[in-house]
Amino acid sequence: MWNVVGETAPEMPADRPRYLMGVGTPEDLIEAVSLGVDMFDCVLPTRNGRTGQAFTSRGKVNIKNAQWAVDTRPLDDACECAVCRRHSRAYLRHLYMSGELLASVLLTHHNLAFFLDTMRRVRQSIRSGDFTKFRQEFTEGLSEAVASNSFSQP
Ligand SMILES: [Zn+2]
Repeated sequence: MWNVVGETAPEMPADRPRYLMGVGTPEDLIEAVSLGVDMFDCVLPTRNGRTGQAFTSRGKVNIKNAQWAVDTRPLDDACECAVCRRHSRAYLRHLYMSGELLASVLLTHHNLAFFLDTMRRVRQSIRSGDFTKFRQEFTEGLSEAVASNSFSQP
């Protein structure tokens, strides 16, 4: 896919928006932007929210995991959405494991806020000429996830 996007995007008119359908993860969006794509739509933030998966600045959080059962932290410390300001991972996990529809609503709300904030930051970094630096820092943050999620609670 990246080979095709990399070959076709530069051939498209520079004064028209470039749309890539069905993509993707936050990392995919940033990769596609680096190849010249402007717009996206995808089910990931909503579908994954409904199935208990949150996208965060430190990677994916599967709210079903037992490790979150008593975790009082928000889904993402760096997120300012209403869900992250008000609810803990433990509460969201409780809702999900109890079959409460509210879990899907809250996880979807966070995921959409995270995707929108990520793209807002992409646009800001392009305007300020710091896209490469932003991309590197964003990617490094995601790789911290694996290490921090495997540790027990502080
Ligand atoms: Zn959030």
